[in-house]
Amino acid sequence: MVTPTLGYAARDEANPLSRFDFERRDLRPADVQIDIHYCGVCHSDLHQVHNDWGNTVYPLVPGHEIVGRVAAIGSEVDKFTVGDVVAVGCLVDSCQRCEPCEGGEEQYCLKAATQTYNDKDRIDGSPTHGGYSKRIVVRQEFVLRMSDKLDPAAAAPLLCAGITVYSPLNYHRVSSGTRLGVIGLGGLGHMAIKFGAAMGAEVTLFTTSPSKIEEAKRLGAHKVVLSSDREQMKTARGYFDLLIDTVPKPHSMNEYLMCLRRNGNMVLVGPIGMMDPPIHLGLLISARKALSGSAIGGISETQQMLDFCADRGITCDVEMINIQDINQAYERMQRNDVHYRFVIDMASLK
Ligand code: NAP
Ligand code: ZN
Repeated sequence: MVTPTLGYAARDEANPLSRFDFERRDLRPADVQIDIHYCGVCHSDLHQVHNDWGNTVYPLVPGHEIVGRVAAIGSEVDKFTVGDVVAVGCLVDSCQRCEPCEGGEEQYCLKAATQTYNDKDRIDGSPTHGGYSKRIVVRQEFVLRMSDKLDPAAAAPLLCAGITVYSPLNYHRVSSGTRLGVIGLGGLGHMAIKFGAAMGAEVTLFTTSPSKIEEAKRLGAHKVVLSSDREQMKTARGYFDLLIDTVPKPHSMNEYLMCLRRNGNMVLVGPIGMMDPPIHLGLLISARKALSGSAIGGISETQQMLDFCADRGITCDVEMINIQDINQAYERMQRNDVHYRFVIDMASLK
């Protein structure tokens, strides 16, 4: 059984997104049905729409930064009631039995977690569709609780941009005294600055955009390095404990590896599609440096991050748009003109 709903979809990689009628499954016993109020626009949506990673299945309804209200619950749901404000991020299911799942790291499920969109439902094989839509149905284990202290629109991007940078900062125990460098000031980067500063780190932004220097300081960065300036890059050498690279496009890594101090770690979260990067391995070997990666975060860690944000009053800097503006928003993202996350007001979808 299914229920009709409405969304916005890409039909292929070349044409703009447009209205799309599709169906959501009826409730299984452990399912929560959510009326979507807000959905953030992640650079990954753009990568998927353009088939940058070669795995896009069309029609594609993107969106994995979802906030809404519970509209109905299945007979076995015990964590939520109708009317609760809730959130859904990048995952809607996983095997729940493997070692990463049992350790609360469903994003690293050995049987591959089910992505919120561009994936297949584990039970009936139907395509998963994301948050650029009126409604979603998700098993309760993958639904997050949202504090009423958080503005729901400004909190929506926490569900991907937020957790993707919170998780490596948490894993690497960022605290007072950590010298943290954030590479790229976009959706992920602006949250890495806010979280790093809230955790007590000394935060430096590496940016390609001179216009963002003052903005970065307003967001909590203590220093800014213009990455196109060779002298500034030289001055930053050998200084950082941790670098978080959020850049979505291929770029050189060696000059950033030079900025790590002994035992430093550079965590890649942005350049997912970058193949065979030229890396000077001597830079790692000479000072026991590490180059690593990180993907979103598990469900319990995402809840921990949302609660941390509610306690500290942290949300995202967002620009609200109507769903009809999504194609222009994508164009602006490609021109690097985002401050710092578009969020779709889903009431505009009629
Ligand atoms: P975004 O908002 O578009 O920001 C990207 C930033 O990267 C830009 O603001 C820009 O900052 C910098 N940049 C440097 N060179 C660039 C170039 N050639 N083109 C565009 N930007 C450039 O993107 P986002 O939403 O933060 O996502 C960043 C990347 O993370 C994407 O590739 C996305 O797919 C990926 N991602 C990964 C995960 C994960 O789990 N690992 C989760 C979510 C997203 P400056 O102006 O400061 O240089
Ligand atoms: Zn995302």
